Amino acid sequence: MTENLRVLHVVEGTSVDGPGLRTSIYLAGCNHHCPGCHNPESWNMGGGDTRTLDELMEVIAYNEAPVTFSGGDPLAQPKPLAHLVKRIKSELGYNVWCYTGYTWEQVKKEPQLMEVVSQLDVLVDSPFKIDERDTKLRFRGSHNQRLIDVQATLKNDKLTLWHD
Ligand code: SF4
Repeated sequence: MTENLRVLHVVEGTSVDGPGLRTSIYLAGCNHHCPGCHNPESWNMGGGDTRTLDELMEVIAYNEAPVTFSGGDPLAQPKPLAHLVKRIKSELGYNVWCYTGYTWEQVKKEPQLMEVVSQLDVLVDSPFKIDERDTKLRFRGSHNQRLIDVQATLKNDKLTLWHD
């Protein structure tokens, strides 16, 4: 069976969603509805276009760059995303970041979300909070959001933040 993701857009060679020049893939759908969200048009689960995992792998491989998933909340499409991240890791070995409106503590309790997250290098967690907004923060919009080094966190069983 062909697997698909609903994609809002793909930005090639961006430096705003993680270190280095990356391929950022913005996925459709978000149920968090944070007040002050920068992208409320991304909330529609049926938004964007359907792309097969093969099509996305082709774009990612062509760019030869690390990958970031944003949105929307990419974890709104956990099953196909888990399969895509698995392919990126096994076929290309690229660094993968993902943004989500869930907290790490919430993700940990959901096996379906952990299927995606356990494969990541970095999870940028938590909903955007407008009263904690700070435009000077690197790779995040509000102070409550955390750049989590997923592999170190899982290895040490202790939440470990990512440092450049
Ligand atoms: S999680 Fe992100 S996309 Fe979703 S409402 Fe919050 S800021 Fe917007």
